[in-house]
Amino acid sequence: MRLLEVSGIDSYYGDSHILFDLSLEVAAGEVVCLLGRNGAGKTTTLKSIIGLVPPRSGQITLRGRSLTGLAPFRIARLGIGYVPEERRIFGNLTIRENLEVARRTWGDGAGEPWTADRVFDLFPHLRTLRDRPAGRLSGGEQQMLTIARTLMGNPSLLLLDEPSEGLAPLVLEMLATQLAGLRGTGLTMLVAEQNVHFVSELGDRVYVLEKGMVRYQGTMAEFVGNDEVRRAYLAV
Ligand code: ATP
Repeated sequence: MRLLEVSGIDSYYGDSHILFDLSLEVAAGEVVCLLGRNGAGKTTTLKSIIGLVPPRSGQITLRGRSLTGLAPFRIARLGIGYVPEERRIFGNLTIRENLEVARRTWGDGAGEPWTADRVFDLFPHLRTLRDRPAGRLSGGEQQMLTIARTLMGNPSLLLLDEPSEGLAPLVLEMLATQLAGLRGTGLTMLVAEQNVHFVSELGDRVYVLEKGMVRYQGTMAEFVGNDEVRRAYLAV
């Protein structure tokens, strides 16, 4: 079944036309990667889906239900979790408190509900730091916490915006393992990334964007084997 369907959307910032007739779909249980260089339109696509940049034309549906005209918080309640590029955590609260304030039971959350304990099983490093104020965490730890607290909303679809950004190689490796673990729970994900290597083991399918348009789509295996596309649309 198609969980998310984006059909021919056009999105703007003021007068700037950013996304052009963009379509993509994500089936339940899939991990789909949105790839492209800086400024290609990845963030704008995620913001269009969550309602922060409502498309001026086209349709977005979740389980067949139109999201058109809904405010971001309503879209989130239908079961979409959004992890923005800028990590939003409460610096003065501990890890455990950050998780507790994010706990929600709306949506139809795919499967078993998330608890702090279940989140700590996925991110064991956060368990060891659970009483530390989030403002004193490293960039990688904050990224893990941002993902962890979004899971506490029990989303059935997780949108991740450049999770790898600014992270050191060792931390990246840890995060890749954790995202693979998350995928193992059956959670559906749409991941925007510039770092192809980071997602090459994680994703089932890819869409490559350039100048707000889909230039290529295929399975991850096809994409990884296609040097031409990687050279044309990505900095690799
Ligand atoms: P990045 O890796 O930089 O986030 P991206 O692929 O996510 O890249 P977007 O952030 O979606 O790209 O940006 C797409 C285009 O929209 C770029 O040309 C960018 O300059 C423009 N843009 C982004 N935010 C705004 C804004 N608030 N107002 C006007 N133009 C914007």
